[in-house]
Amino acid sequence: MSDANDPGHGGETAASIASDVRAGVVDALDVVERHLARIAERDDEIHAFNLVLADEARRRASELDELRASGVDPGPLAGVPVALKDNVCTRGIPTTCSSRILGDWRPPYDATVVIRLHDAGAVVVGKTNLDEFAMGSSTENSAFGPTRNPHDTTRVPGGSSGGSAAAVAAGFAPIALGSDTGGSIRQPAALCGTVGVKPTYGLVSRLGLVAFGSSLDQIGPFARTVADAALALQAISGHDPGDSTSIERPPFDVGGRLDVGVAGTRVGRITDLPAGASPDVQSRLDEAFDVLAVNGAEIVDVEVPAFGYGLTAYYLIAPAEASSNLARFDGVRFGNRVSAPDTDRMYVATRTDGFGDEVKRRIVLGTYALSAGYYDAYYGRAQRVRRLIANDFAAAYASCDVLLTPASPTVAFAVGDKAADPLAMYLCDTYTIPSNLSGDPAMSVPFGTGDAGLPVGVQILAPALEEARMFAVAAELERSAP
Ligand code: GLN
Repeated sequence: MSDANDPGHGGETAASIASDVRAGVVDALDVVERHLARIAERDDEIHAFNLVLADEARRRASELDELRASGVDPGPLAGVPVALKDNVCTRGIPTTCSSRILGDWRPPYDATVVIRLHDAGAVVVGKTNLDEFAMGSSTENSAFGPTRNPHDTTRVPGGSSGGSAAAVAAGFAPIALGSDTGGSIRQPAALCGTVGVKPTYGLVSRLGLVAFGSSLDQIGPFARTVADAALALQAISGHDPGDSTSIERPPFDVGGRLDVGVAGTRVGRITDLPAGASPDVQSRLDEAFDVLAVNGAEIVDVEVPAFGYGLTAYYLIAPAEASSNLARFDGVRFGNRVSAPDTDRMYVATRTDGFGDEVKRRIVLGTYALSAGYYDAYYGRAQRVRRLIANDFAAAYASCDVLLTPASPTVAFAVGDKAADPLAMYLCDTYTIPSNLSGDPAMSVPFGTGDAGLPVGVQILAPALEEARMFAVAAELERSAP
């Protein structure tokens, strides 16, 4: 094990690659070859990727080099290798959601984020492993086998975007995209020692993201630095008429905010945060508060009861939406089919064979919560709690600018540790879920190490559309990380 934030290779950042490629100092093709070589060297062991797009990446890089040679600016992410979670649609390229049910399905279109990355000059190097349909916190629920944490391959990378987090941590790509429905970007970012951002709901288009919980899902970036995460978010954000929940706003622009510091920033410390953080994680969080205070922030004690109720509300709302979204995988419209004597039995056989246990568990939970006799008692009540959670945050933000919590209660745990205990797995998301329910932005930033020398992530939460404020605090924590 080496430096917590760089277990693999490459101090290369997206910002430095893009500026070198734009200036003609390095070729995009060389950058891509270097990253493909790292993947070839180590991905057998880590399994960050479901699919490496080596030829496509080389072709695209050469195209960018030709563009540049002819005097055209290839864009703000010129030549930057990017890994995509395999629930983001790529035209003509298998998009599996790490499920058997999709088989060799190839989407007929690119997700909006893929088009935007392409337009910014990025080079997609592959599709990353995930918990099936993004349901999980360890990337063990993949039909293709688990991803391993690059810092210690006996441990999980977190999930569900574990492949994307591991890809960035291992130096396979400086930027990766994930999706976050209840913590699936921030928790793996914490466990792999990368930056991970869940933007405000509606800031990034969901068009072409295979839906899990549509009212909670957001796409966001992983990166090794806060500045790279800002660059990536800028490239993928902004209004998309193709997504009805997209906010009518120009793309995010962090401007000069990464350097403004935290003098006068009111940082909320949540006094009624549910217990559960391990002592090593808690002491890093305490240190983060200290560091911000030393740099001029004002630490404010606040109550946010939302954290005590989030998990329960989430495990009604997310499965309810999932059970509805996953109804489309019926053996007719997409992917694999198991034949049977009649249509009803074909549906049953296909779904029995195609979905893994966790996905089936969510479908059963969700269908139950939505059923006629129980709708008000479960789903209806969870929706009312959701409203109260949003109110809790609004009240907290009356007295502070941002909130700080652990991103994950513990450092990376061993492969197999929680696989047989769904509730233990669900508790990984205690601190991340509430901001999916409120729709507010949150991010994890690496802040030193905990038990076994493994990375710890601190979560910064901010009010809707206040990403720039959140990034300013993240940049300060990055500068003063132990
Ligand atoms: N671990 C949570 C779940 O399994 C969150 C997943 C996610 O954010 N996609 O639902």
